[in-house]
Amino acid sequence: MGYAAGWGFCNHGLRQVFAEEDLLPISALQHFAFCERRAALILLEGAWEENFFTADGKIFHERSEGYQTEMRGDLRIVRGLPMRSLRLGLMGKADVVEFQRAPREKTTLKNASDRVVDECGSWLPFPIEYKRGRLRHEEGYEVQLCAQALCLEEMLEVTIPRGAVYYGQTKRRLDIVFDQSLRQRTERIALQLHQMIFDKRVPVARYEKKCTGCSLFTLCLPKTTGSPKSARTYLLGIVNNGGN
Ligand code: SF4
Repeated sequence: MGYAAGWGFCNHGLRQVFAEEDLLPISALQHFAFCERRAALILLEGAWEENFFTADGKIFHERSEGYQTEMRGDLRIVRGLPMRSLRLGLMGKADVVEFQRAPREKTTLKNASDRVVDECGSWLPFPIEYKRGRLRHEEGYEVQLCAQALCLEEMLEVTIPRGAVYYGQTKRRLDIVFDQSLRQRTERIALQLHQMIFDKRVPVARYEKKCTGCSLFTLCLPKTTGSPKSARTYLLGIVNNGGN
């Protein structure tokens, strides 16, 4: 991947405006938060391996794909909404964004900053990310959702205070507040991700408990490629066993 002219380093680190061709997928933040090497293998080496969880997750997501809108009372529901942030260098699609309508007359100067105002009223955006499995806290999911909120904020010029992760197995939503700490974490991960891609750096594998659930396990080989020592042991094992 080559970064376009106009993007690069300055005295304060990476310049915070990206060209459209340099935008990275929002979903990569989730992989990066889980494991930096995983994000690098996917983005730099084009690795992707389905396991039960990724296949199940994909089917689950496909149900919510495609750009569609629907009105339910004072709720406008938009599915598959494309979004991007040139400041963070991210692009993607929100599974669902709900826009809750408040009558125009109820929009005051105090709450106007979190509303999108049009001729039908003022609308409070609320992004929702769909995930398989049971209700739980996952840093990567929360960062991914917060990145969606930051993209929407940049595009709609509003402040989005909260969103939710919806868990398919338990059919429950976990409300997420986009506080300063989560916003800063999300921005830091976006920056680190761009830095890694810019450097074309694939971090060395480190075998941990989480590796057993990683769909890239057989491509990554964390037990054998993790350190020169383990790679040497692995190779010597093959040589000494005559390939058996
Ligand atoms: S197997 Fe482990 S080290 Fe390798 S990409 Fe997955 S989580 Fe990262």
